Parts: sequence; structure tokens; C-alpha cells
Amino acid sequence: MKIGFIGLGNMGGPMALNVARAGYSMTVHDLTREAAGPLLETGASWADSPAAVARASDVVFTSLPGPPEVEAVALGDDGIMQGMTPGAVYIDLSTNSPSLVRRLAPLFEARGCHMLDAPVSGGVPGARAGKLAVMASGDESIYQKCKPVLDTIGDKVQYCGGIGNGTICKLMHNSIAYSYCRAIAECFTTAVKAGVEAEVVWKAVRDGAVGRGVLLDASLPRKWLSGNFEPDFALRLAQKDVTLATDLGREYGVPMSFSNLVLQEMDEAMDRGWGEKDSRIFLKLQEEKAGVEVRFKEPWKPG
Ligand code: NAD
Repeated sequence: MKIGFIGLGNMGGPMALNVARAGYSMTVHDLTREAAGPLLETGASWADSPAAVARASDVVFTSLPGPPEVEAVALGDDGIMQGMTPGAVYIDLSTNSPSLVRRLAPLFEARGCHMLDAPVSGGVPGARAGKLAVMASGDESIYQKCKPVLDTIGDKVQYCGGIGNGTICKLMHNSIAYSYCRAIAECFTTAVKAGVEAEVVWKAVRDGAVGRGVLLDASLPRKWLSGNFEPDFALRLAQKDVTLATDLGREYGVPMSFSNLVLQEMDEAMDRGWGEKDSRIFLKLQEEKAGVEVRFKEPWKPG
């Protein structure tokens, strides 16, 4: 299988190197030839355009900044589509727009080619180590065919379903990551202003349920995602904790906008008489506002 790789930046460079090290024959391209230096040293060939990469490849990857670059590289005058032969596969690793991905895929299908979206998570260290989460979607048989190449860049390669689903997962993943970051900022500033050393609050949070990953690994799948709202930590107690935390913020003059928003939603859930239910029941309010219920199809089994 001959591989093409376009976009050899902070992520694309090391991902392409891992594909090359796994023994695949590579043709590469970037806006600047210097970006390809380490790849060319492994024996990869340079191509002057995305179309030329596609002409030389069975599978073409892109790792580009965002939607405008992906659209130009895929559909432009000298773009991938101009060079692809029937049966070839285009895989976009960029963090892209789901609607663009879903618009591009049928255009490739119409030419007898295929497209997968497979955004990645794990940062530059993960890209270098070949330890990325790869959120791949599109036709499942095409995914299976390409999985051995995806396995060279990631240690957690997941099939996410129809085209665009991987990109949706990636965008939601990043929004969670940065919201979490912002929540940490307001809670750490409150703790430090109230007299706790940064090292101490960091260790306390890391050693507690948050740092142990209890929310994602156990309580969300066991509770909210399974529709189980029998209490092992009642909402009235969680609401008491967030009330005390936001009181502390007010006492020390630290804005805690995220925590206050959470408290507002907990208050609303309490007003509905849900205080004795599990603390995650307040997430049902968001389901109501979004007009969707978020539940696993099968009962969750730990491990
Ligand atoms: P980057 O800016 O370092 O690399 C992008 C590369 O694309 C550059 O080498 C640039 O020259 C090249 N490029 C831009 N337009 C081009 C074009 N028209 N033709 C050919 N090459 C072109 O960005 P990055 O950090 O490697 O990120 C790439 C993608 O991966 C982005 O979508 C980003 O959101 C995503 N991502 C980044 C990280 C990270 O930690 N950096 C982590 C996960 C996902």
C-alpha cells in the first residue's frame, strides 16, 4: 500500500514519520519543502502538489490547520481529487468541520474513491510516540482496510461510525478539555487566594476522584449514561458542596462563572424535587434543553 501525506507540521510530521518507519512507501507534500526534511531522509519522495501525491498513492492523508486548507487541498485545481485513481482512499487527520467532511465524502465517492475522517488526540508527544487516539469514521470496510496504517500513528484507534462522526467526537473532546481547563482555572485561583499552595491543591485534585478519572471511568457510564439515578451521592449534597465553593469564591473576590452556572442548574433540578436522586441527575436538564437523551444502548459492564 503506497501512502501519501500532505501537511507535515507539528502533528503531521511525526505521524508521517511513524508511517514511514513502519515500512510504507511514502510520497509527501507541504507548503514548504523544509517541513519534509526528516521524511525525505527516510527515503520518502517529494511531490510538488496534492494531486501529484494522490497520483502516487493508494491512501492519502492530510494533517492541515483547518477547514479552508482541507477544502483547498482536497478540491483545489491541483488538489487531491484531481490525482486520485478509482479505489484510492483519502483520510483527513485534521481537526475539521463535520459538515465539510460530510460534503467532501460523497464527492470522492462519485469519483469511485473513498474518504474517511480520522482526527487525532494526544498532542505532539503522542504523535511522536505513535500513541494517539484516532477517531475514524466513514465506510467500515474501507476503515478496516486502512486500519493497519492507522495503527502506526495511534495506539487507540476507534471506529466511530458514519462519515463525520470521528470529527464530531474530536470537537466535543476538545470542548470538554478546554471547559475542564477553565473550571480548573477558577477553582485553583479560588484555592490559592484562600491560602492553599498551588502544589497542594494540584495534588489534592489529582489524588481525588477527579484525578483518578472516576467520572469518565465509572460514575458517568454507571449513572447518567445508564439512566440510573439511584443515589450513591445525592444531588442535595453535591449542591451543598458547590454552594460552599462558590460562597468561598465570593468571600475572596474570585469570579467562579462556571461553578455558578453549575449551581444554577443544580438549584433548578432541586426545585424539581430531584434532591434525593443521584447528583448527576441535573444533567437531565441539559438533555431536555438539547431535545435528546444520552444513553448507552447496552447495559454498561465495568472493565
Ligand atoms: P501545524 O500548523 O503545525 O501544521 C500544519 C501543516 O500544514 C504545516 O506544515 C503547513 O505548512 C501545512 N499546510 C498548510 N496549508 C497547506 C496547504 N495548502 N498545502 C500543503 N500543506 C499545507 O498544525 P498541527 O499542530 O500539526 O495541526 C494539524 C492539525 O491537527 C490541525 O487540524 C490541528 O487542530 C490538529 N491537532 C493538533 C494537535 C497539536 O497538539 N498540535 C493535536 C491534535 C490535533
